[in-house]
Parts: sequence; C-alpha cells; structure tokens
Amino acid sequence: GGLSPLAAKAAQEVSKWRGTSALGESTKNYIGGEFRESKADKWLEVRDPSTQTVLTHVPETTAAEFDQAVDAAQQAFQTWSKTSVMRRQRVMFELQHLIRQNAPEIANSIVLEQGKTFADALGDVGRGLQVVESATAITNTLLGDKLEVSADMDTFSRRLPLGVTAAITPFNFPAMIVLWSAALATVTGNTLIVKPSERDPGATMIIAELCEKAGLPAGVINVVHGSAPTVNRICDDPAIKAISFVGGDKAGEHIYNRATPLGKRVQANLGAKNHCVIMPDANKNLTLNAVAGAAFGAAGQRCMALSVAIFVGPARQWIPELIERAKGLKVSGGFEEGTDLGPVISPEAKARVEHYIASVDKEGGKILLDGRNHTVPEYPNGNFVGPTIVECTTDMSAYKNEIFGPVLTIVEAENLDDAIAIINENKYGNGASVFTNSGSTARKFELEAEPGQIGVNVAVPVPLPMFNWSGNKGSFKGDIPFYGKSGIDFYTYRKTTTSLWPAADAVGNRATVTMPQ
Ligand code: NAD
Repeated sequence: GGLSPLAAKAAQEVSKWRGTSALGESTKNYIGGEFRESKADKWLEVRDPSTQTVLTHVPETTAAEFDQAVDAAQQAFQTWSKTSVMRRQRVMFELQHLIRQNAPEIANSIVLEQGKTFADALGDVGRGLQVVESATAITNTLLGDKLEVSADMDTFSRRLPLGVTAAITPFNFPAMIVLWSAALATVTGNTLIVKPSERDPGATMIIAELCEKAGLPAGVINVVHGSAPTVNRICDDPAIKAISFVGGDKAGEHIYNRATPLGKRVQANLGAKNHCVIMPDANKNLTLNAVAGAAFGAAGQRCMALSVAIFVGPARQWIPELIERAKGLKVSGGFEEGTDLGPVISPEAKARVEHYIASVDKEGGKILLDGRNHTVPEYPNGNFVGPTIVECTTDMSAYKNEIFGPVLTIVEAENLDDAIAIINENKYGNGASVFTNSGSTARKFELEAEPGQIGVNVAVPVPLPMFNWSGNKGSFKGDIPFYGKSGIDFYTYRKTTTSLWPAADAVGNRATVTMPQ
C-alpha cells in the first residue's frame, strides 16, 4: 500500500539528509567525515513497521570499509585527544543547539523506521539531548585532584581519553542511546565508531551530520552499518579500546565475552523485566495512569517499560479500571493525531509477542485484555498489537521472559514482603517501582528491592544524566555504567603524577634506598 500521506511527507524530509534515505535508496556509511556509499554485497532492508514499505537499505559493511573507519578514527584521535577541553566543550554547546533545532527532523526518521509516536520520538531525542547538555559541563566534570603531599612534593591526577571507542546500539531508542556515547566519548577526547541498529539507522545519520556541523573534525565520529559480522569486527579490532553496548542479552553477552578477554573495556546494558508494586494506600489515579503509560507507551518496547504489576491486597479491586484505561488507548501509525501506541518493530516481533500471550492460556493463566489480532483499518499491514493484560504465576513463560511488547503481566502477592521477594528472585535488575502514600513502605522498598533504578510513585524511573544509568543484576554487564559521572569514568583512564621541586641547596649527596613514605 505504500506510506501514509503524513509518512510520505516525512520521508521526503528525511531523505534531504546526506547519509540517510527514506525513499528506498541506500543509507551511507560515514567515514572520515564523508558519507560514503558502501560496496557491500549484502544489504539489509529497513521497513516502515506500520505499512511494511521498504524505506532504505543498510550495508553489511565490508572488511575494507571497516578498516577505513578504524584508520580514520585512529588518525583523528592524534589531534582530537590534544584539542583543548574548552574547544571540545564548545562543540557540545553547538551540538545541543543543533539537535534542539532539528529535533522534529530526527523524530520524523524515528517514527518512519521505528514506529513510535511522533511525541514519543521527540522524547527519545530529548533524553539524548540531556546527555549532550550534561557533556557541556566537561570543564567541571573532568577536573582532577591535586594535593601537596609533603614538603616540596605535589600529586595530581588527570583523566585521559582511551583512544578509538565503539558504540553498538539497539532499535528501540535510535537517538537517545547513540547520544549517550556520541556526546561523552567525544567530549572526553576519544574518537568513536557507531554501529547503529540495522533496523533504524536514520537518526544516527542525522546526528552524524549535526556533529559535523557542530565542529567535530573528520574521523572523530564514524558510522558503519551492519549486523553480527560488523559487530564481531568491532570486538576483534585491537585499535578499539572500549565498547558501549545496549541491546538484548544474547548479543550483549556475546560481545562482552568476545571483547573483554582482548583487554577492551565493555559496558553492556541488557534486557529487563521491570516490576511495580501497587499498595492499597496509593493514589489510585496517579497509579493507574502511570502503570498504563509505562506498560503500553512505545508499544512496550522500552527497556524500562513496565512488564509486571503486583497489586497487593485490596488494590486488586483496581484491575478492572486499569483494563478500561488500557482499552482507551489508541493504536495506530505514529504520525496520526492522538495515537498512543504504534506498531512493534517487525512481523517477527509481533509473532513473538502473540506467542507469549497465547502461552498464558496454555499454561493456565488468564488473558484479561487480549491485544492479538488488533486491526487498524488505515494500516492493514502494520505490526500492531493492542494493549494486553494477562494474569500469571511466576513459573509461566510470559512472566519468565522479556516480551518487549505491550503486554502487562499481573502477578499476585499478599503483602509487601512477598512482592519484594518476587522482584528479587527475578534475574533482571533494571528497574522497579512502588506506588504508595506511606513513607515507610516506600523506604523499605527502596532499600530492599534489588533492581538498580527504583521509582516511588514513578513508573519509569530512568535517571537524568546528572546521575548515571544504574541497572544491575542480569540487566548489566561490566563495571562502569552509562552517562553521569560514571560515563566520564568509562571513557577516560586516570594518570597520577607526583613531582618534587625542592630548593637546589636543600638536596644532600646521599642516595635513599628505603621505600619512601
Ligand atoms: P539486539 O540485541 O537484537 O540488537 C542490539 C545491537 O546488537 C544491534 O546493533 C544489533 O545489530 C547487534 N546484534 C544483534 N544480534 C547480534 C549478534 N548475534 N551478534 C552480534 N551483534 C548482534 O537488541 P534490539 O532488539 O535492537 O533491542 C531490544 C533489546 O535491547 C531488549 O532486550 C531491551 O531490553 C534492550 N535494551 C536495553 C536497554 C538498557 O538500557 N538496559 C536499553 C534499550 C534496550
């Protein structure tokens, strides 16, 4: 059927950017400051998830092209790492301005390729922009320590960039997650190779062009496309010193296990299963709005999406009202006015989500609201799944697996202790929240629930970048998390200098052979 009229207009806009196309042509690599057509013999289709229209093709970058990207990044590192911190800061000021100015353009690309609603896509850009804004504070955040440790002796530490770094990103936040690395890797003096998700490369290409306009010299940021073979080159290349990965468990564990034995620093944000506990003393409207928004927003394709709700005691009486609220959400193309949730990313993703819904029936759970076979008349070929609410026990597959779709699983617990025990038995640790009006309940939950990001009356407790991302347990591999203070740590190493400057006539003529203290 082709694109909807609104999407066709957006596709024209997106195709004006040098690296990307939404009119069926290829997406370019960006190497050494040039948008280059790949000579790959394997190309991957990018489709509009609302219509299946082929928007563009991305190359499986060739070995020679990959090497050119690494060479460009290595060369650029020689000068960029020595560029003054104030110049790098100025580039970030310019970049934040350009991203703000072009946010609707980036959002157009996201809606076309990823499917989320336009308003939600602006949020995706906005959360990335906040990391760029935090990077402008680099003249403070990079300050070292200095102490006069004894007479005539000073020690000071400085933080230096690592060299060539790489980012491998997922489909669900095509702007935000690329900006986590693009801002912090470069402002600290590193160069970067980005391998964006092969399903929605457009936002990264627009960001690369904006980085160039903001004054990042050629080779500081490079973009290569592809799937597992290109990722493996990133893991194996000795010039690449650090890898930021965000995505699913399988790819993340593979990358971590392949790259760390080679001495690379790896931070890997993985899958999730985020729970919330609803206490009977909570504010009902606040809770139900937050739960429906967090479970079904972005069609459940957020790593901080809410997947499990535990209604404690009489709070169970609110379930019918939650179902009504979920029914009221509009499912349609992301550009349509009033859409609350768009399609999931692919027909395979839709089949996976529907498989898990079906499994609830088979394994003895209850489907309270069934989003399967959801039809949107204007978009007969879209990968739509309507809001779904199921009731399960923790041994069922819909509970045990990350569904990554608009499916909220309700499990039962008698009291707060039981609810916390369920959360802590889960292998993941991205986020968990509690809805209550009791300070002591909230405090107990904060302290005892193990996931690394806790919400109190907040369903998507994603920390702003003055803090760092702090998912834990099975949701993270590595030692140094993304953005915030630890983002600066990830992209730098410390060097500590001790110097002695005595007056010339205070130095005797006998060597000291004992350990100086
Ligand atoms: P994905 O793992 O399929 O893809 C992520 C990246 O890894 C892509 O660039 C892809 O090309 C690459 N990749 C995929 N399979 C690979 C393989 N076998 N070998 C090497 N590289 C491979 O993830 P996705 O479907 O794009 O994103 C959804 C997943 O990401 C969900 O599990 C979600 O929870 C997770 N996620 C986590 C966070 C977080 O911060 N914890 C944030 C966003 C998404």
